[in-house]
Amino acid sequence: MERSSQRWDAIVVGGGPAGSNAAQRLADGGARTLLLEKQRHPRYKPCGGGLPLHTLAEIAAPIDDLIESRVNTIEVSHPNGRRFRKCHAQPFAVLVMRDRLDERLLDAARTAGATVHEDEAVRRLSIEGACAVVETAQGRYEAPLLIGADGATGPTARAAGLDADVPRSAAWELEIEAPPALLDYWAGVANIDVAYRPWGYGWVFPKAGRLSVGVVLPPGGGRHIRAVTDTYLKRLGLAGAPVQIAQGHPIRYRRSARRPVARGPVLLTGDAAGLADEFTAEGIHYALQSGRLAATAALDALGAHDPSAHDPAARYLAAINGEIQPELDAARAISRLCYWCLSTGAGLAMRVSQRIDYFWRAFFRVMRGESTYARELSRGGLSLITRVL
Ligand SMILES: Cc1cc2nc3c(=O)[nH]c(=O)nc-3n(C[C@H](O)[C@H](O)[C@H](O)COP(=O)(O)OP(=O)(O)OC[C@H]3O[C@@H](n4cnc5c(N)ncnc54)[C@H](O)[C@@H]3O)c2cc1C
Repeated sequence: MERSSQRWDAIVVGGGPAGSNAAQRLADGGARTLLLEKQRHPRYKPCGGGLPLHTLAEIAAPIDDLIESRVNTIEVSHPNGRRFRKCHAQPFAVLVMRDRLDERLLDAARTAGATVHEDEAVRRLSIEGACAVVETAQGRYEAPLLIGADGATGPTARAAGLDADVPRSAAWELEIEAPPALLDYWAGVANIDVAYRPWGYGWVFPKAGRLSVGVVLPPGGGRHIRAVTDTYLKRLGLAGAPVQIAQGHPIRYRRSARRPVARGPVLLTGDAAGLADEFTAEGIHYALQSGRLAATAALDALGAHDPSAHDPAARYLAAINGEIQPELDAARAISRLCYWCLSTGAGLAMRVSQRIDYFWRAFFRVMRGESTYARELSRGGLSLITRVL
């Protein structure tokens, strides 16, 4: 027997940064919003928890008390032992634990008036006329707008027919109780370990009393990722240090403005839409930003009393292609240039990049929100070079 549906103005699937930000802004705008999250917060999410300063402007909740450390120095290292540091007078990123950040963002959505159902996974999504219908073990819900914010492995993108061939990388993350001497060494410093082949890198992010250590590799690299991480840990002096948690997760990349992110009433956000940058593999910023853009497109449509009149899918696609895709394209171009240099001659690339302060000043400007990848790429005249690589 068919169960009766609860009807909402908007349904959000997933309570990560994209979904909570979308739900908070929808509820603030007066929409009757239901957020469905398959886990119960606080829940662990494999993530370095690195928030470049430019991300903080997208967070509509106070998070100062969640900041575990601030970094103003980047240390670039090479598996051959060569390393150098570049400092900025002010921090360029802060570090948080994702379970605490995501719980805070979900609470903010709830406080704004969104109805939140935790421990309730979406099992089925269908588009019926102008409505999205979702089913869980507990109920059946429908709305004229559905925001898919269920991450890189959630079901929404697939069910909406928006999932074909999105490139992805593998990432592995550990939270490690490091000895005091190593915590001192990494205080205020983020490490990026380069020259993995064909591409990929390792990172160390300092947190309160522990280090986040991880490795990101291309698709297929998942098979070797633990071995690569073990080698990196040995070089860091962390082999055998107590590991609080270790988990892997894919990261997806939208590489073209032609790739659809919406269909009918379904708008995909964050990792579900592949909105992570290919230079740093950073995705929290774009998750929050796309959640905000999706909420705006949804509220505009709901305000018209006839959602189909406004075509929220087209408006949202235009917003993503105008505000996010140029950054993802520029980050990918910079990443290709860096990996081309490293694969052509890693030693030389390390020496040259150590000497080119222009590059590091541009990096800090982007991280601090004083510039963008796209602006730095065109200013440096590098866009022509990256086009031929
Ligand atoms: C190892 C690793 C390290 C990273 N480090 C960084 C970093 O330092 N800085 C940075 O900016 N980015 C980082 N990223 C990327 C960042 O984690 C993601 O881009 C970000 O989490 C995307 O947010 P989201 O809200 O789109 O998805 P998620 O954070 O993945 O949230 C999706 C939510 O949907 C829920 N869900 C899934 N399926 C269902 C379902 N069927 N029904 C209901 N709910 C469901 C999940 O439980 C989850 O809570 C890293 C990624 C990885 C893998």
